[in-house]
Amino acid sequence: MRDQYGRTIEYMRVSVTDRCNLRCIYCMPETGVHCVPHSEILTFDEIARVCGIGSGLGIRKIKLTGGEPLVRRGLPELVKMLKDLPGIEQVTLTSNGILLKEQLGNLVAAGLDAVNISIDTLDQEEYRRITRIGDIADAAAGLEAAVACGKLRVKINCVPLRDVSPDTYIKLALLARDKNVDVRFIEMMPIGFGKEFAGRSGGEIVGVLREQYGEPEIYNKKIGNGPAEYFSFPGFKGKIGLISAVSHQFCSTCNRVRLTSEGALKLCLQYNTAVDLRSLLRSGADDDLIRETMRRAIYEKPACHHFDNAVPGQSDDASEWQEKIETREMSQIGG
Ligand code: SAM
Ligand code: SF4
Repeated sequence: MRDQYGRTIEYMRVSVTDRCNLRCIYCMPETGVHCVPHSEILTFDEIARVCGIGSGLGIRKIKLTGGEPLVRRGLPELVKMLKDLPGIEQVTLTSNGILLKEQLGNLVAAGLDAVNISIDTLDQEEYRRITRIGDIADAAAGLEAAVACGKLRVKINCVPLRDVSPDTYIKLALLARDKNVDVRFIEMMPIGFGKEFAGRSGGEIVGVLREQYGEPEIYNKKIGNGPAEYFSFPGFKGKIGLISAVSHQFCSTCNRVRLTSEGALKLCLQYNTAVDLRSLLRSGADDDLIRETMRRAIYEKPACHHFDNAVPGQSDDASEWQEKIETREMSQIGG
């Protein structure tokens, strides 16, 4: 369906848990993590019902996320349930990769189409500093297995930090040179703990890679569901992608909504505005009522984020949107 600004909304990011087996510094606190009780998290049947109703509204692609989606028991079962929904063309996953190797066979058998693996550095010491508790060997094993199976499109997501050496990004880009994977650099967004960390812009990363690998060529074809801009470097098997949400706002082409693990339909990452679908699901609402609620919410999707803290174009009143700013952590919203 189209929203009030004429954007076609066809992509839903579905968070299956707020829990995680890592504690990335810009995403979660080190201690004192307050997890939502299991009873408040949508069941697989509830998620599939919302996605089925969403497909009637034009949702075609679903990305499973979290927290870490692979810590939710039985995820392949959900993948299969969603793949079986009429109208759903793609079910994909974003994961830190730690548990990917052991679950890969079942995920592929269930029909998973693609996986994004978050790896901010290949250096163990740096990886441990950023994730606080992770082993890069586990994430790398997940990546190797995903590439080797030959059945998935594989991308790496990296959020470059200001205090990490540019060399790190030169080494990460080598994965795209040597393997059939795309390596994407995502600008740090001022969400949750992300507000406390300085990142590197997409332009800066391209500058670093250009010095090492030569002149990048813009790749004009669309890859995946998102707003990434892609480049190829001479001799690279995969592409380099930039997701520059902060330096190059792409809200005018935004195609997505989010379902949080607690069953709230969220229209924009930066706003706390959401519709509580769980109450409807658990109070006997029929599909028509849920569909109409989703339709109205999607139609009202906000025009744009305000990561740059600017006053919105439509209004002189900054407080109008500042009151609605999301204050939760990325793992709680579903990144
Ligand atoms: N645990 C999974 C993972 O790490 O891929 C899925 C959830 S995680 C929240 C999804 C993505 O959001 C990861 O690539 C992570 O690096 C990114 N992320 C988390 N906080 C962010 C922030 N403030 N700005 C930009 N990206 C962020
Ligand atoms: Fe976990 Fe992903 Fe957040 Fe890291 S970015 S703490 S892996 S949810």
